[in-house]
Amino acid sequence: MFGKCKLVLHRSIPDGFKIKTASITKKADGYYVTLSLEDSTVPEIKPDFNPNKITGIDVGLKEFLTTSEGETVAIPQYYRKAQKRLRVIQKCVSRRKKGSNRRQEAVKQLGKQHKKVADKRKDFHFKTANNLLKKYDVIAVEDLNIKGLARTRLAKSVLDAGWSSFLSILTNKAVNAGLLVVPVSAHNTSQNCSNCGEKVPKKLHERWHDCPHCGCSLDRDHNAAINIKNRAVGHPVLKAQSMSVSEASPKEIAIAGVAEKPASYLYSG
Ligand SMILES: [Zn+2]
Repeated sequence: MFGKCKLVLHRSIPDGFKIKTASITKKADGYYVTLSLEDSTVPEIKPDFNPNKITGIDVGLKEFLTTSEGETVAIPQYYRKAQKRLRVIQKCVSRRKKGSNRRQEAVKQLGKQHKKVADKRKDFHFKTANNLLKKYDVIAVEDLNIKGLARTRLAKSVLDAGWSSFLSILTNKAVNAGLLVVPVSAHNTSQNCSNCGEKVPKKLHERWHDCPHCGCSLDRDHNAAINIKNRAVGHPVLKAQSMSVSEASPKEIAIAGVAEKPASYLYSG
């Protein structure tokens, strides 16, 4: 219709983006072409989730998790009991003579108990994920794919509680429901004050956050969960989503996304 024509390119089109639509508008000083782009690395999100229904969750030593709203989910008692029973059977196996029938029997029992623990844990993870996603549309979590965590005491607790398998269940459920799990940097989430941002160093056994700078006082994990939530609030995908909920049209979001360099990651799996 127009044939070829010269244009002023305000922004270059980033690599890996596909042009979805182009719209032309006539303004006083000329014609404007607005392109809507798609980044295949950013998963499509259902447009009807509410970015304000957001929470942050912190993995704890004491609780399974604490939300930025101060809710806690405890590690279930039966799980601890099952772990104890596991250790008893394990001892039984190692005491019995290799190759004996009695040992064979104990090994069988051990396998059964392992499966029982795994099933209970999975069940608990599913229930916890469901409860969170019923209440919140966006859940910010610590990105645990970091070196260094393995050396900390927290790592053991994370492994015990199966935090990473919980995260993959939560992420899958969120994706299927058109909701969002946003991993954020775990750096200093428990040390920084969630109210004023000052660093308030504390050892692992100190369970309470008492900020000498602003007087903010709350549970250590609660403070961390608020920091985790706050780190996700500025996320480009959420910003784009808030715009679509409030004022902007889809193509403006696409362009705004380009301007802000959309996230190259969101979740894996
Ligand atoms: Zn403070």
